Amino acid sequence: MEGGKEGTFGGVVYECVRCGTPVSAEELAQLPEIKCICGYRILRKARPSVVKQVKAI
Ligand SMILES: [Zn+2]
Repeated sequence: MEGGKEGTFGGVVYECVRCGTPVSAEELAQLPEIKCICGYRILRKARPSVVKQVKAI
């Protein structure tokens, strides 16, 4: 289950308002309930830090 890409599922990322741990929508979809790893249930939408790489010619 090792992948180099993360946060590419629709580009939607949530983060726990308590500990700030980012959780992708893909990860949330696999959980039985919306819950952070710390046990807190309140997540907010976080803007994914989209980094566009432009190759210099
Ligand atoms: Zn948390």
